[in-house]
Amino acid sequence: MPSPHDGCLFCDIVRNGAYVAKTRGFVAINDINPQADVHVLIIPERHVDTFRDIGEFHAGETKRMLEFVAEVAQQVGLTDYRVVANVGPAAGQTIFHLHWHVLGQTPTREVHLPPMTAVTEL
Ligand code: 5GP
Ligand code: ZN
Repeated sequence: MPSPHDGCLFCDIVRNGAYVAKTRGFVAINDINPQADVHVLIIPERHVDTFRDIGEFHAGETKRMLEFVAEVAQQVGLTDYRVVANVGPAAGQTIFHLHWHVLGQTPTREVHLPPMTAVTEL
């Protein structure tokens, strides 16, 4: 595993955290403060500060990372969802270790049928 960035929370989490899913070089965790029914974070093991530095990944790594985003979304039961990367403090980035948010609503299991209408005999 690549060496951690001193004092980086996500470098600690990718080493010691509880994963939702894991593949070579990347992990997925549940967000501690979910903003949707399902809110997972996809985090590369390698420390890269922000999406602005995406060029630090090799093309193959970037492809695998994005494929992992899609695989995790499917594994956690989402078909429709948002993928978000906040880039820089003014855009809401608070943890300066690249990560992707996957946000989606759990499909409701209840089937909502229209109310029964009274049948009036003519
Ligand atoms: P950002 O604001 O940088 O785009 O996203 C950071 C995310 O990390 C936030 O949604 C926040 O709730 C989440 N987060 C912060 N600290 C922790 C933590 O210790 N554990 C987990 N699982 N998520 C965290
Ligand atoms: Zn880090």
